[in-house]
Amino acid sequence: MNALRKYADAMQRLRCDKRGGRERPHKAVMLLSASLLAEADELNENRIEFNSRLLEIFGSIFPVASQQDDRKTPHNPFFYLKNDGFWHLHPKKGHAQALSHTRNIRGSGQLRETVAYASLDPDLYNLIRDPDARRELQAVLIQRYCHHASDAVWKVLEEEAQIETRKQKLLREEPGEYSTPQEKLRSTAFRRMIREIYDVRCAACGVRFFFEDIDLIDAAHLIPFSESRDDRPQNGIALCKNHHWLMDKNIMVPGPGRGKDYKHPIWHVHRQLDDRYEEHKAVLKWNRRKVIPPTETRYSPCREGLEWRMDRLREVEKASS
Ligand SMILES: [Zn+2]
Repeated sequence: MNALRKYADAMQRLRCDKRGGRERPHKAVMLLSASLLAEADELNENRIEFNSRLLEIFGSIFPVASQQDDRKTPHNPFFYLKNDGFWHLHPKKGHAQALSHTRNIRGSGQLRETVAYASLDPDLYNLIRDPDARRELQAVLIQRYCHHASDAVWKVLEEEAQIETRKQKLLREEPGEYSTPQEKLRSTAFRRMIREIYDVRCAACGVRFFFEDIDLIDAAHLIPFSESRDDRPQNGIALCKNHHWLMDKNIMVPGPGRGKDYKHPIWHVHRQLDDRYEEHKAVLKWNRRKVIPPTETRYSPCREGLEWRMDRLREVEKASS
């Protein structure tokens, strides 16, 4: 039996949780999500991590593929796919024993704590990186577990591929005209890219929080897209909800470091804030603190973006003085 037949067969027989004769789609959605990572060229190693990138894709497919009382619990399929023979969990350092004794997973926290990544059988890994084989496996999964909404699922897969492709182009800083995708695809690609390059961490306070598929981090433009039409990574910054709001209201903005050092930006807080007032202290404590950089310095905030934000701050300071 050739490998494609073998794994198409395995996809037909996933050991799924059942509800009134209906098989739950969770495992199929997880496998479709992994296949999209391969499609976007983001699976250059046989290593599928339970990270925000995977969760975002899962979160796009799941609402379309699910029915009735299906709950969005991506940690379940990520963990229980290990029982289907081709999906292998690899423990985090120091957690091998804990993982080998884990029969049931309690939630995403436990999964993140114990599992470093999942890998596929090498043959299956090669198949999902091949466009034709991948398409065939996707078709099996959709037909078998999402047949009630197959057109809608295919549509999401197509959109997801467009989003990931655009994101990759922006990250590689490919020159030339980018076709203008629909607004929703464009903004989603930007959002995902910025969150990833900052490792889902606020560039002001450093907060990083995950619970199930919830976190606190937004992607913001330095110069708003409406004005700049600029989705480059250097025109973005990852911020928690509070710091995003404070930047948008020009209360604290990223700007140059000491001696006009645009390579090492710091936070600048509105001059009229006064540390004698208790309620100003929560914001003042970030004044002159460094902007937490992205994981790769080439994506650091651009000078024009920092200048634009500083100009806004100076305007509001002038207006309120
Ligand atoms: Zn923050």
